[in-house]
Amino acid sequence: MQALIENLVKLQAIELNRARLNQQMRALPAEIAQAAAALAAAQRQSADLSAALAREDSMRTRLERDIDGHRQKAARFRVQVDSVTTPEQAVAIEHEIQFATAEADRLEADEYASLERTEAHETALAETRAQVEQLAAEVDAVRTSVAARQQAMASELAGLDAEREAVRAAIDSDWLARFDRIASGRGTGIARAENQQCTGCRMGVRPQVWNQLREGELLSCDSCSRLLYWDPALAPAPKAPQPELIPGAGRAPRKPRVAGA
Ligand SMILES: [Zn+2]
Repeated sequence: MQALIENLVKLQAIELNRARLNQQMRALPAEIAQAAAALAAAQRQSADLSAALAREDSMRTRLERDIDGHRQKAARFRVQVDSVTTPEQAVAIEHEIQFATAEADRLEADEYASLERTEAHETALAETRAQVEQLAAEVDAVRTSVAARQQAMASELAGLDAEREAVRAAIDSDWLARFDRIASGRGTGIARAENQQCTGCRMGVRPQVWNQLREGELLSCDSCSRLLYWDPALAPAPKAPQPELIPGAGRAPRKPRVAGA
């Protein structure tokens, strides 16, 4: 009975370890995805800034053409000023010159604002490109690290699989089937009894069951139906004082000082 209990406990530890490893392995691709997403975001930002720079460039080309047009118009009107014959004509032409000059000035201010935006975009683009380079290197590093861990976990898992087969082969098939059935439903198939409780579900065990467990029997928990055993090595000494309830317990006892030493 004792060997059976030990094998079942060992099998459960192996199964839990395998589950933990499998879960960790499944989580690994997410690390790569997260690094790749950060890189993609920086790449998008870089592309957005490049597009904004191109927009500012073509806007300035258009502004310069319009500014030239207004300045040429003003120049043409200035030539006409000399040939006007009436004061009304002079006022009208003066008005045209003022209007064309004001437009040219206004568009020049727009062009200046565009140049300022371009300067800010160029600074941001340089920073973003540096970031893209750094994040691309990080993606490579994460990939390498994930591959290494994947390999280490896979070989650990292979070791556990071999151990699992050996332990399963040593367990009676009826008990193994029971263990498997309970474990598939509850996550674990065997639980230790402690302080007259099942550690799997925390429910109390009947005194009769508790006594049988202490005699080394392998039973079932009435509440969760896990296989139930008692481990004398882990049982507290009967009526042992609880150390945490004693003030000063746990501190190293002081050696009495010898006067003069
Ligand atoms: Zn239980």
